[in-house]
Formats: sequence, C-alpha cells, structure tokens
Amino acid sequence: MEIRYNEKLKKLPPYLFIEIDRKKKEAMDRGADIISLGVGDPDMPTPEHIIKSMQEAVAKPANHQYPFGAGSLSYRKAVADWYKNRFNVDLNTDEICALIGSKEGVGHIHLGFVNPGDVVLIPEPGYPVYNTGAIFTDGVPYFMPLLEKNGFLPDLDAIPEDIAKKAKLIFVNYPNNPTAAVAPKEFYIKLIEFAKKNNIIVAADAAYSEIYYDENDKPSSFLKFPGAKEVGVEFHSLSKTYNMTGWRIGWVCGNKNIVAGIAKVKDNYDSGVFQAVQEAAVTALSSSQRCVEDARKIYKERRGALVEGLKKLGWEVNLPKASFYVWAKVPKGYTSSQAVSKLLDDAAIVCTPGNGMGKSGEGYVRFALTVGVPRIKEALERISKIEW
Ligand SMILES: *Cc1c(COP(=O)(O)O)cnc(C)c1O
Repeated sequence: MEIRYNEKLKKLPPYLFIEIDRKKKEAMDRGADIISLGVGDPDMPTPEHIIKSMQEAVAKPANHQYPFGAGSLSYRKAVADWYKNRFNVDLNTDEICALIGSKEGVGHIHLGFVNPGDVVLIPEPGYPVYNTGAIFTDGVPYFMPLLEKNGFLPDLDAIPEDIAKKAKLIFVNYPNNPTAAVAPKEFYIKLIEFAKKNNIIVAADAAYSEIYYDENDKPSSFLKFPGAKEVGVEFHSLSKTYNMTGWRIGWVCGNKNIVAGIAKVKDNYDSGVFQAVQEAAVTALSSSQRCVEDARKIYKERRGALVEGLKKLGWEVNLPKASFYVWAKVPKGYTSSQAVSKLLDDAAIVCTPGNGMGKSGEGYVRFALTVGVPRIKEALERISKIEW
C-alpha cells in the first residue's frame, strides 16, 4: 500500500536545517569537537528543589489519574500569584489554562478560533509553530517582517486593510526569538488598538519574559496594558525560566473566553498536564526565585563574552536586552546559509541561519547562549582564525 500523507503535512515548510544537520553529522563522524550554539535549549539542569518536589509528587497515587483539563486549582493559583508578583496583573483562575509546554497552546489556539480562509498574522523571522497551526487549520498566513530599522517590531500600519479585516489571530513574541528584541509600551498600546479595531485575537508569546539582563528594565507583560484582556491572551512557559524544557509545562492566561476556547480544544485532544509535573511547577513558581536570578547571571556573563568577542572580530551585533539569543549580522559577502556552513566546516561551530526562521532573517545568524564561557571563548578563538 502506498502511504499518502495529508495535504497539510505536505504544506509544512521544508526543513531548512537538513544541509546543516548533514554537515554536523559529517563533522561529528570525523571526530570534530563541535560547539553547539544552535538550539534554544538550556544546558543547565532543573534546580534541585523542583526535582525533589517532582520526586515526591510522582509517588502520590492521586497524581496517577487523569488530570483536570485546565490544570489543578493549585497550579492556576500559583500562576496567578506569580503573575501578580511579577507583573502586578490580577488573574482569576478561570483566566488561566495549563499547557503541555507553551508550544502546545501556541500550536493549538488556531483550532479554537481559525476557520478555513481566516488570515493569521505571523512575525517573521519567528517561531515556526505559529505558522504550523495556521496550516493545520487551513488558515492563511500573512507574514509580518521584523526588521532592524523598526526595532524588530511588526509594522502594523503596513498591514493592508483587507488583510487586517480577514485576520482572526495575530502572534507577537517579546522578548523575541530569534532577534532578542523587547517590545516597548507604545507597541502594545498600538497593538491593542489595532486588535480592537479589526476584531483580531492577540496571542502574545512570552516564553522568554524571565531571561532579561537589567533588573530595572524587565520585559513587560502584554496583559499589563489597558484593554489587553479584552482582546488577547499571553503564553508562558517554565521551560526557559527553570531549565525545564523536557518537562512540558506552561500556561495561557488572559481573556477568559479565549482561554476557554483553548481549554475546549485540549479537552477533546489531550487530558492536560501530568499532575505531578503541575505540583513541581507550583514549587518552581512559589519558591524563592534565586535559581532564576542565578541563571540570569550566568547568561549575562555568556552574553558579555560572546557579544564583546564578536565585536572585537568586527561582527555587527547588538547587545541583547533579553532572551538567551544573540542575533548577529553575517560577515559581508555571505548569506546566512553560507556563513553557517563556513562556521561549521572551518570552526566546528553550530548556529542557526537567520533565514531558516523567515526570509527577513537573511543576513543574520542566531547564536544561543547555551554553553559556558570557556566554550564561548574557544568558539571566538576559532572564529578569529576563519578566513572570510
Ligand atoms: C521555547 C519557545 C517556546 C515554548 O516552549 P515550551 O517548551 O513549549 O513551553 C515558545 N515560544 C518560543 C518563541 C520559544 O522559543
């Protein structure tokens, strides 16, 4: 029998890292000592107190049954308390739904709201899942370029009126992956106005809200601004904040009817997050946040080492205010893919080509700060020997 995939699977964008993966494998086969700055996955372990909480939670028989779809009341209360502390935003428990990692919610929100032919406004370069959800629901993606001259913010005025009228959902993601940009207050105010005027649901992806470098200039929540809760929701994740990418837990919060739509999709698809993981997440959110401060300090040292080092080598690169990414312009005369290939072939360094995350990423590469300072220094040393 010939196995034929559905048309939507065929529509998924081609996997742009095939060539890099092939080269990476080749380099590994020849025994190269690869420095991987490619994947946005923290290298540090989950803090001990969270692991201990999980160990206790997993032994409780009550946690072995199906969880409650939207998340346990104690998880949602812990989220509400954390939110109040961090952003001074009030949330009721019916404005919060637990997610199996925020990727799950970001990918499933379309199922709750997008009908075939509805436009989905998607930033590019950006996290690929926003588009995947649009493809799976027969939505029509409209890509909003994130350009350096606009501070890597989408230009809402440049969206044609007929597109805005047909749009059902707009994604924004600050602190941004991959550009590391942070959105100012004015942007959110304009976004809320735009969403209200055109009846568009705002999906703000805040996976990196806690990876910031200036205590006096922390990234804001979209929900902090007047009218936000009328038009949208915000996605959060424990993955990057507590080094818990493998655990799969996050949440969506904000407009209660939008949250209910996502919860309804989830009720019919999955049965929520393993309760033991929710218990461990309560521990993470409600204990001392020292571990997060420590992680920020580590990322800050790495950021300093990489950015200063690249600048000394003549690279054009901005000091990121948040996220654990460094978005750097490739050396003159190179495309993103060519630069990534050269870094891999000549220096055994893996990084992400900017164009792999959207065409406006052409001319950039993304380095993830997910190795220690000594390895970053080694990477810089190797880069300094490349003949461009
Ligand atoms: C890592 C990441 C997420 C989600 O992570 P989960 O592990 O699914 O919670 C969401 N958005 C962006 C932009 C990310 O980089």
